Amino acid sequence: MRGYYSNSPPLPYCEVIVLSDYQHILIAADFSSHHQQVFDKAIDVAASNQAKLSLCHIVEDYPITDFAYEPMISVDIDMREELLKSAKKTMASMAKTLAIPTENQWIEFGNPRHDIVRLAQEHDVDLIVVGSHGRHGIKLLLGSTANAVLHHAQCDVLAVRLSE
Ligand code: AMP
Repeated sequence: MRGYYSNSPPLPYCEVIVLSDYQHILIAADFSSHHQQVFDKAIDVAASNQAKLSLCHIVEDYPITDFAYEPMISVDIDMREELLKSAKKTMASMAKTLAIPTENQWIEFGNPRHDIVRLAQEHDVDLIVVGSHGRHGIKLLLGSTANAVLHHAQCDVLAVRLSE
């Protein structure tokens, strides 16, 4: 984009370089008390890029294990239904504050580390926004969702440092 400053002297023209041009931004929401910090950053970036926003939440489906650590049937059907119902309710109210339409609200059972990246790929997302707790030591070794998304996503990832 090029333009002139009418009142300023001798610059022949100025050149505005747009560093990024995101069209579809995915917010990964864990429904924790920190989510607003992630939302605020995503809203800023979306506004400056005039990008579409989507919101995802992955309901973690922990397998129940027996004493010999053999995986058994995971969370039972009724419990899954309840988890899903509650997640949908929370997502709907969050999406309302962000003016995100229903078709851009995605809830799935799974593992956030894999499924956020997969959803981004499936829906042509070009920026994923996640929160980052800035872990150190053993917690860093074990990894975090932000870390996994950063390493596996095929698009850009914005990790918002969360203040505790
Ligand atoms: P974590 O490092 O796992 O505490 O999570 C860091 C960030 O990953 C959160 O701020 C969210 O942006 C994202 N995240 C974690 N868990 C989920 C989830 N179940 N669904 C969607 N996003 C998640």
